[in-house]
Amino acid sequence: MTTGDATHTNLLGLPRPELTAFVAQLGSKPFRARQLMNWIYKRGASSFAEMTDLAKDFRVRLATSAEVRPPEIVSVQNSADGTTKWLLRADASQAFEMVFIPEADRGTLCISSQVGCALDCSFCATAQQGFNRNLTTAEIVGQVWLACRELEREAATRRIGAAPVPADVDGNSATEGGGNERHVTNVVFMGMGEPLANFRNVVPALAILLDDFGFDLSRRRVTLSTSGLVPQIYKLAEETNVALAVSLHAPDDALRNELVPINRKHPIAELLQACWHYLDEQNGRSVTFEYVMLDGVNDSPAQARALARLLKGHPAKVNLIPFNPFPGTHFRRSPSAVIQRFRDELLQRGVLATIRRTRGDDIDAACGQLAGRVIDRTTVRLGSKTFGVAVQP
Ligand code: SAH
Repeated sequence: MTTGDATHTNLLGLPRPELTAFVAQLGSKPFRARQLMNWIYKRGASSFAEMTDLAKDFRVRLATSAEVRPPEIVSVQNSADGTTKWLLRADASQAFEMVFIPEADRGTLCISSQVGCALDCSFCATAQQGFNRNLTTAEIVGQVWLACRELEREAATRRIGAAPVPADVDGNSATEGGGNERHVTNVVFMGMGEPLANFRNVVPALAILLDDFGFDLSRRRVTLSTSGLVPQIYKLAEETNVALAVSLHAPDDALRNELVPINRKHPIAELLQACWHYLDEQNGRSVTFEYVMLDGVNDSPAQARALARLLKGHPAKVNLIPFNPFPGTHFRRSPSAVIQRFRDELLQRGVLATIRRTRGDDIDAACGQLAGRVIDRTTVRLGSKTFGVAVQP
């Protein structure tokens, strides 16, 4: 079990105010919460026994009522380019994925917010499995905690000069190729699930990622990616100031209705309004618009020009994502010359655009390829007929 049992509160799910209240309930002073966070997040401790500057009786009380429990690892795969993918257990029958992408100057951890996804975007592997359940705050924060600890262990193995890096079953070593920053410097909510459909658990997780006593990440190093749940973008603006990425994928409503069905409820004009509002409220620099390049579907120069008209003059960046195929899809990746032409059309019109480097595709860890094994799933999908979104407030 990763969600903890009924008698033990998983501290990875408690932002500082809640942890302070929890500690008070145990009869301790508020500053104990900061000490605890220091042990948990700065030192990676999970056993109360090792937290030696806490009074012994407090440690005993903690041990009987609390735990620091990350998700359990089901399997690990290392890509030839240095990307690592973990399959994590949600419970006996469900799993979800997390991916670490090392680059020369940063290490990005891509985390999941749900097991499966209900948004039914036609080009995404996660959509194929439908929605199973929301991850808890502890499971979301636990991914980052676990990755930091696993990468630290890997570094320690390297330091003592034993086997360089654990190789996976196929013998791929995690340090071949790719970048060499193997610490988590950035976190992106771009794994499985729609983070804004799990608002209740994602917002406290963001607080722990940003808290000085938590992971102490700067707001620009945490990115939440959404398919465009407009009301939740407005709510998010009241709660946090992390970087926002939006999965746009089409320059007009007719096409976006097909690719990203939530568009039928919240069309592009409404979505863009929400994005500019978010930046105004949070004094943000820009919104990143993700745009998956689908051969012959959304990749023509005319579509690039239409996209430029939508975004020109606004604080926007476009990130073009070469489509990553998965079994059963009828979409194909646009040829690289077509992707470059698309980018150039945008650049010529004054819209910032980059092409995302595909990482980890040999282990199905690239964007849109995550599909944690789910046994006995309850499928809830937003197909063309079943509209009406069941999002959590
Ligand atoms: N649900 C959120 C976050 C998860 S997906 C969202 O929609 O933004 C992270 C990014 O990968 C999104 O932009 C998503 O549209 C994109 N993506 C999904 N499937 C893909 C695929 N097969 N190839 C490339 N990118 C894909």
